[in-house]
Amino acid sequence: MFSLKGKNAVVTGGGSGIGQAIALAFAKQGARVDVLEINTEAAGETVEKIQSEGGEASAIECDVTRHDHVQEVFDKLGTDRGLDCLINNAGIAHVGNITNTSEEDFDRVMSVNLKGVFNCLKGGVRQMIKSGGGSIVNIASTVATMAINDRLAYSTSKGGVLAMTYAVAKDHLNDNIRCNAIQPGRIHTPFVDGFIAKNYPDKQEEMFQKLSEYQPVGRMGKPEEVAAMAVFLCSDEASFITGSPFAVDGGTLYVR
Ligand code: NAP
Repeated sequence: MFSLKGKNAVVTGGGSGIGQAIALAFAKQGARVDVLEINTEAAGETVEKIQSEGGEASAIECDVTRHDHVQEVFDKLGTDRGLDCLINNAGIAHVGNITNTSEEDFDRVMSVNLKGVFNCLKGGVRQMIKSGGGSIVNIASTVATMAINDRLAYSTSKGGVLAMTYAVAKDHLNDNIRCNAIQPGRIHTPFVDGFIAKNYPDKQEEMFQKLSEYQPVGRMGKPEEVAAMAVFLCSDEASFITGSPFAVDGGTLYVR
């Protein structure tokens, strides 16, 4: 069960954290993985890890905010080997409410987290239609559907990701394309460490503890725990699942 053998997968932001864990897990299950990254050095490390375990992978420099470049990347991938699985994972964090979020910051968050997903969906769905179908997983967040303080721009972007998930699932039912979303709770990655270091430089340990205890299970999640859900959703065992959000959140959304 849960084999991805023979499938070609694209993971955006696969050089770090959740994206890296997804890339490694997909390769382990037999997929050939293309890591699309703005951070080419990080992408190279993921690819090296995969190859050292006997898997197949490539690193491709790609800023998901650049519409035309993203289309070129997907067109080339489609021609070279086809596309079966797309994981829209690249994203950035931001802290702020409506009064102190600048227009510039709002635009930046939307550009990566929402338009970046739009750009990759556009390229990815086009290739999947050509090759007869596929499976897409968008990495949203618990804050797509619940409020936490000071995440105005970030939550807005992730709410949009969830809405796009439903739209693509509906529009492409007859193209044999499934599109689902994962809503991770707090997962321990460089994204979280960077967020703590930037926003709470004087009380990093205290904040780490506080953020861990926020999850009803009492800890942050591991990137591998999100990756396992992505593997399942792209496997043939998930063939009846489309247009659904899946919380991987230690009980954050429903067990408070
Ligand atoms: P991460 O460790 O920061 O990894 C994100 C990767 O995406 C980084 O390698 C980053 O490169 C890359 N990236 C950033 N902007 C990009 C762009 N424009 N084009 C291509 N790649 C880009 O983050 P993570 O914690 O694994 O998070 C991954 C996803 O999960 C994000 O969408 C995030 O919103 C979501 N999420 C995370 C958590 C959590 O608690 N960690 C919870 C819910 C949802 P650089 O390092 O150069 O920026």
